[in-house]
Amino acid sequence: MSSNWLSQLTSEHVRDLMPYQSARRLFSAEGADGDQLWLNANEAPDTEAVQIDYRLFNRYPDCQPSEVLAAYAQYAGVKKGEIITTRGADEGIELIIRAFCQAGKSNVLICPPTYGMYAISAETFNVGVKKAPLREDFSLDLESITAFVDDVNVVFICSPNNPTGTDVPTSDIIQVLEAYKDKAIVVVDEAYIEFSTQQSQVDLLSKYNNLVILRTLSKAFALAGIRCGFTLASPDIITTLLKVIAPYPVPAPVAQIATQALCPEGIAKTSDRVALLNAELANIAARLKKIDNVEIVGGTAGNFILFRHKQNKALMQYLVERNLYIRDQSKQYLLENCLRITAGTSEQNERLLNAILAFFEGEISNKQFTQNQTSRTQA
Ligand SMILES: *Cc1c(COP(=O)(O)O)cnc(C)c1O
Repeated sequence: MSSNWLSQLTSEHVRDLMPYQSARRLFSAEGADGDQLWLNANEAPDTEAVQIDYRLFNRYPDCQPSEVLAAYAQYAGVKKGEIITTRGADEGIELIIRAFCQAGKSNVLICPPTYGMYAISAETFNVGVKKAPLREDFSLDLESITAFVDDVNVVFICSPNNPTGTDVPTSDIIQVLEAYKDKAIVVVDEAYIEFSTQQSQVDLLSKYNNLVILRTLSKAFALAGIRCGFTLASPDIITTLLKVIAPYPVPAPVAQIATQALCPEGIAKTSDRVALLNAELANIAARLKKIDNVEIVGGTAGNFILFRHKQNKALMQYLVERNLYIRDQSKQYLLENCLRITAGTSEQNERLLNAILAFFEGEISNKQFTQNQTSRTQA
């Protein structure tokens, strides 16, 4: 615990917060023999070589590097004034809360099970978190969502949703936008849009001035390490967000790398990567389905898959002992006994699946062994 004076000095709402348990941080103390396989944070399994021009590193970068903005605006199909770039989509979430919520007063609405950062960001700014949980089929509970119309300033909808891998139909999003028209910002987090067969909601931007869309280079573009995301919205919202953003949020090397990733060859590589990972995901799903009592949960509109098995804890432990890291989602609403696997390369997925199969074969022989033991004692 921190010293008494420091704890006294700390903002009341910060005192009880826990540092974010990133997927990586959870296991950083585990063995470090280079054999670890990280399939727990929805990162891409590999990335591309980049070129860095250091010659202007003595200068502060542009607040909003125009090349990056122009390239992403074209990629996403929005106009120049409808976009800002941030340190990952996570910073976009933070800016929205800071710009549109009042500390100690306002609330945001989330639809669990969903991405954890909406609530974490809100708590950091002393903003309340209301919940309209998803229905059992992971669809939005529109009735419950619209019941909060006068209570919340921002609604977070994740589509495709992490960790369920399910899309929210456009018609549902429109209903939320209509219900919250002139009332609240509706954020549609499209971090995994490239993996989905459903269209992006960008076309709704011209019709709904309360819509905000979040994007990132961390997932399909395989650049989680550079921290680069995008927020798409009406020019009025963008102008408001620019009031709260840091003066130099995008480091010069990040802008250079992002520009390279967003050139036509970069985009082509990303779409190849997505096709490959989608095929891997289908294979993982098919293999998991064959295991007794394993239930695939949700969809595959992301670079990950969720499954349920009663032995989730023992399986997780077994995998960690073998330097295989996937993500425990069992504490999330509706996701009892669930684990999430990020799609890796085919070799990586093979290694993981073999370990999972070995675990269940071990379980079966253990059971048979115990059964034999019991029958023998009974005999
Ligand atoms: C990974 C993720 C993000 C954060 O992306 P960054 O750009 O790396 O900050 C946002 N939303 C969802 C749903 C995610 O899974």
